[in-house]
Amino acid sequence: MYDVIIVGSGLAGMCVANLLSDTGKKVAIFEKQNMLFGSSRYSTLNLATCENSLQKSLGIKDNATTFLDDMYGFSGGFGDKKLLEILAINSNLALKTLQSFGCEYKDEIFLKDYHSVARVCEPKHSAIKSILNPLHQRIINKVDIFLEQEIVDLEKNGSKIDAVILKDDTKLKAKIVVFATGGFSRDKEFIHLQNPLASFTKSQTTAQSNANSLKTLLKVGAIPVQVELMRYAFNFGIEILPYSLIIDINTGQRLCDESKTRQELAYEILHADKVSKFAKGSIALFDEYAIKTLFSKELLQSYIDKSMIKIFNNTFDIAEFFGLDNNKFDSQIKLYNSYFDSGIDTKFGKNLLNPAYKKLEKAPFYALNLEVYLNYTQGGVAINEHSQVINIKTFQPFSNLFVVGEASGGVHGMGRLNGCSSLECVVFAMQCAKKIKEILA
Ligand SMILES: Cc1cc2nc3c(=O)[nH]c(=O)nc-3n(C[C@H](O)[C@H](O)[C@H](O)COP(=O)(O)OP(=O)(O)OC[C@H]3O[C@@H](n4cnc5c(N)ncnc54)[C@H](O)[C@@H]3O)c2cc1C
Repeated sequence: MYDVIIVGSGLAGMCVANLLSDTGKKVAIFEKQNMLFGSSRYSTLNLATCENSLQKSLGIKDNATTFLDDMYGFSGGFGDKKLLEILAINSNLALKTLQSFGCEYKDEIFLKDYHSVARVCEPKHSAIKSILNPLHQRIINKVDIFLEQEIVDLEKNGSKIDAVILKDDTKLKAKIVVFATGGFSRDKEFIHLQNPLASFTKSQTTAQSNANSLKTLLKVGAIPVQVELMRYAFNFGIEILPYSLIIDINTGQRLCDESKTRQELAYEILHADKVSKFAKGSIALFDEYAIKTLFSKELLQSYIDKSMIKIFNNTFDIAEFFGLDNNKFDSQIKLYNSYFDSGIDTKFGKNLLNPAYKKLEKAPFYALNLEVYLNYTQGGVAINEHSQVINIKTFQPFSNLFVVGEASGGVHGMGRLNGCSSLECVVFAMQCAKKIKEILA
């Protein structure tokens, strides 16, 4: 009999294991893949925190209320304010806890995404080297770790979980079960049912990120939350797109206001492709001025080497390359440039007051093929403030079933800010470990 069985070895599972590793309890991690760390392995693992020492030393004014406002605002009102508040309040403690476990961050603090102030910490080296390996090293010999062991079912007795069932039907008894099983970004079949447009995305998550564990939880009576909401990403940093002119290659027309949010832009690109029978995608166009402002020489060259950016001497060559009608394409560019003369984008209402937005006029021109990625799914199962799963029949928590990290749902609503998934993994691991210690005391 285990005291605690943790299902999944990504950031969330590793944090729960670390927080319980010195309690003298019998703790095990079961991981279905033949290697550790799940999608966390491919992540940048930036961590958003407020009131940290770096912010203080730089005089950056921030607090939990501002951070909460940012997260809740970006959630489009769909986020869970109570759970987001727990994230904001505990964010600095999360950073300190990780550092006390040997994780390392850069001595810099970054302004990312739609955060209102600089509050994002980046791992010192890679996510694996600076975050995940130290977490793993710390629990070797303290926590049993099993690879290639998938939990496929749970045995329930009333509102308690008695055991987990492995693929080969082995039943393992546990006092507490923690699902840290991640998201389902690669489960095209499941996603297509929830949000058809999102099934046209690529993903950088682990190939195993499917909805099977979500289904296991639903089977015992967990509540599904916001499983149709997706967080999109692009093959280029979102911050460069407002300085571009985005063209839908299917129609040769300008697509939308380029300064829209990441979710809105992704929707526009996916939607344009979905309604077209060609599915040719969209491109972001920059001129020489914009590209020099946005990219260092080295970064630009690396994109050119990877054929992610193509260079053209004139707009005629762009039209020819992408199979567009040259006259219509040229008139799109002229129309866009004319908005800067009048100061009003009559087509999409882009706010042209930003002096960094400029006409597209100085050759050479640069075309970026825009790809939409799905690397994070906001949906999952409903949890309470201790990360306990809520029972759909009673709306009360299962006393010994916890869900931590991306597998939980409804926390971030329509949009999750940069660094706030890592934060959720760590903070709810802390909440969960605290409750588990109480239960097992
Ligand atoms: C490219 C990329 C960049 C990102 N950048 C950031 C960032 O900078 N900041 C940020 O906050 N977030 C970022 N994210 C999102 C963030 O990394 C993830 O949401 C987070 O790492 C998820 O951690 P997790 O532990 O919940 O899940 P995972 O890391 O996916 O781990 C879940 C584990 O559970 C295992 N598992 C699932 N079901 C079972 C089962 N039934 N039995 C046994 N094992 C099972 C899986 O194999 C997996 O190993 C990024 C994601 C990607 C893909």
